[in-house]
Amino acid sequence: MPVLVMKFGGTSVATLDRIKRAAKRVGVEVAKGYDVIVIVSAMSGKTNELVGWVNETSPMYDAREYDAIVSSGENVTAGLMALTLQEMDVPARSWQGWQVPVKTTSAHAAARIEEIPNDNIMGSFGNGMRVAVVAGFQGVSPEGRITTLGRGGSDTTAVAFAAAFDAERCDIYTDVDGIYTTDPRVCKKARKLDRIAFEEMLELASLGAKVLQTRSVELAMRYKVKLRVLSSFEEQSDEAGTLVCAEEEIMESNVVAGVAFSRDEAKMTLISVADRPGIAALIFTALSDAGVNVDMIVQNISEEGRTDMTFSCPTDQVARAEAAMAEAKTTGTINFAELIADTEVAKVSVVGIGMRSHTGVAAKMFQVMSAEGINLKVITTSEIKISVLIDRKYMELAVQALHDAFELDKAA
Ligand code: ADP
Ligand code: ASP
Ligand code: MG
Repeated sequence: MPVLVMKFGGTSVATLDRIKRAAKRVGVEVAKGYDVIVIVSAMSGKTNELVGWVNETSPMYDAREYDAIVSSGENVTAGLMALTLQEMDVPARSWQGWQVPVKTTSAHAAARIEEIPNDNIMGSFGNGMRVAVVAGFQGVSPEGRITTLGRGGSDTTAVAFAAAFDAERCDIYTDVDGIYTTDPRVCKKARKLDRIAFEEMLELASLGAKVLQTRSVELAMRYKVKLRVLSSFEEQSDEAGTLVCAEEEIMESNVVAGVAFSRDEAKMTLISVADRPGIAALIFTALSDAGVNVDMIVQNISEEGRTDMTFSCPTDQVARAEAAMAEAKTTGTINFAELIADTEVAKVSVVGIGMRSHTGVAAKMFQVMSAEGINLKVITTSEIKISVLIDRKYMELAVQALHDAFELDKAA
């Protein structure tokens, strides 16, 4: 029988009633003749609570225990979903990651899925089971330890299962009815898209649109998974939601497809570092060794052989970056006057494959920011996106102004 993957996010399984509603959706697909793999998240808020407990117990925690703890929320919802389906007379059982097994790397808290053998679950389908409920977000390392895939990782579990089982489709059920031109919680005029290209969704996700985890989009693109995002709160047709698909499958699209933002950014500036070959390598090697994910980088012009180097990183990595730079200064590896951390910034980006062939998007973006009196602290561009770092207090304003200026409320 054809296989369908259905993923339910945290808000869609937040209460027993919602699990029941989700189970009914699953029942509809089973009745159509699909064998269904259901991927569940933890109940909404649960993973945050577990992460909080870890931090409270041990600020410099052992990442293997972090994973053992934070993966547990999904175990509960997987069991509850299986029970709910059984109550509806749908043959179902739950699977934790290690039971499938979902084989991952050992990079705890940010593991990557390497392989999902499909024989165990296929075997159960062969024996009359109709639904395999799999705990999302988790896997098992080569050392036999529980791993997690990074926040939002259940999306990636879902797409990886769709690829491994050659599923007809991967449906991501969430609390919005599709992918919008920007987060509808920030911009009332955000418009739901019927389709969006993989490349655009990949950029939007990596620039902060948390509706899909970046890695899930990457996998869907690589394995040509038919990926759809839709609401778990409404009755659904086969056409509902937003389809993430190849560029060629979209007839008309705006030059700018969407606006993304990321609140938790910090801008770090090293004042007066020696401007000589190898200095950037030293700085960014030290940061990378300390586990700091550097995003934007700007080197200012130098004066008398000294320059300022600016980079951005997530706010929760500022302490680590400061420690790494302080150590490099003490050991004499890197000589600088001062490290200034600005933790009140946000990144706003416009994304669209149309930018490949249209000029003037950057100019327009900068004009909009200027008209709103918003200062641009750092700018980076790539073929299909432009990002700026601004004061966090202007983030919503910037998103709304850009959405208006690029007329994203109107279809192409
Ligand atoms: P789930 O728990 O189902 O995984 P998430 O909270 O991870 O749900 O993702 C859904 C949320 O993503 C929405 O509630 C919305 O606020 C946010 N979001 C951000 N950008 C977008 C966008 N472009 N389109 C739709 N939702 C977006
Ligand atoms: N429960 C995990 C999280 O909150 C994974 C997910 O929901 O996708 O990050
Ligand atoms: Mg999510």
